[in-house]
Amino acid sequence: MYPAPIEEYVRPGTVDEAIAALAKYPEGDAFFVAGGQSIMQAIKSRLLRPRCIVDLQGVSGLKGITADSNGVRIGAMTRYREIAEAESLNGAYQAMRDAADRVGDRQVRNRGTIGGSLCWNYVAACMPPVTMSLGAEMELIGAGGASRSVAANDFLLGPLETAREENEILLSINMPAAPANAGSAYKKWGLVTDALPVIGVCAYVELDGSGACTSARVAIGGLGDGPAHSGAAAAALVGNKGNDADAISAALDAAANETETQGDLWADPAYRKQLIRSLGTEVVTTAFQRAAS
Ligand SMILES: Cc1cc2nc3c(=O)[nH]c(=O)nc-3n(C[C@H](O)[C@H](O)[C@H](O)COP(=O)(O)OP(=O)(O)OC[C@H]3O[C@@H](n4cnc5c(N)ncnc54)[C@H](O)[C@@H]3O)c2cc1C
Repeated sequence: MYPAPIEEYVRPGTVDEAIAALAKYPEGDAFFVAGGQSIMQAIKSRLLRPRCIVDLQGVSGLKGITADSNGVRIGAMTRYREIAEAESLNGAYQAMRDAADRVGDRQVRNRGTIGGSLCWNYVAACMPPVTMSLGAEMELIGAGGASRSVAANDFLLGPLETAREENEILLSINMPAAPANAGSAYKKWGLVTDALPVIGVCAYVELDGSGACTSARVAIGGLGDGPAHSGAAAAALVGNKGNDADAISAALDAAANETETQGDLWADPAYRKQLIRSLGTEVVTTAFQRAAS
């Protein structure tokens, strides 16, 4: 399919120019394009018929990963490939690398961006549960320069829905500085290698000096209503150690039991629950190992 005719293509150099280009049009007539891996399918199939597309590739302020004592900032236009290779994310934020390394195929990883994934918020996407589990904040800026920071939990609403306001641009994904003994991991399972997952699970743990978990977050993607935290798994992990396989398995059982799973062409509800148990056990065990090292 070819897109319906598009009147204007804009390639701004700054965030202000990008917002101004979008704001020239009524809502739904102009769209940002980041890597184009999701929105171009919608435009080509004419589900979306924009009059203008605003290409963010030239906006340098949106790119790159910086890590310092305050935490880690990932520019919205940072591509999966760069995230997959970023050693500064090892340990506490390594789940980001796990996810980015397995998103789609090589082309998708070379073109697709973390910001595009989060603003699209597809139900099965990897970055939504990862950012929820890592406690990330989305930094947004709107017309007139007003900026705000929104927790991933509050930014990611229902499927294909976010808290981004009309004309706002996502600047960056920010994660707070993590304690030394923190680790995370992500894993997905899909019917086709390197495709969108049927279920993806992300775990983040913090440990005390004895290796016992003091805080945990477990988030699950691939659910019908969008990604969700498992409060039951997080609570069950606290106080336990990474070598306690029974405790980890019980925590993931609790996650599977409390999570509502849907049936579709790819998996029935019971199979999705089994994936939560098996993937979840692997990622929690890996998160403990990373936190301990
Ligand atoms: C074959 C294939 C396999 C895939 N497999 C996976 C997978 O395994 N896991 C996975 O998670 N995803 C997968 N995807 C989806 C992929 O991750 C997309 O790259 C991602 O969903 C969108 O990122 P993008 O940069 O291409 O965004 P685009 O498609 O360019 O944009 C997506 C949306 O975000 C908006 N947007 C983009 N950037 C900004 C910004 N800075 N501020 C405000 N709005 C913005 C756009 O206007 C648009 O509405 C796959 C896609 C394909 C084609």
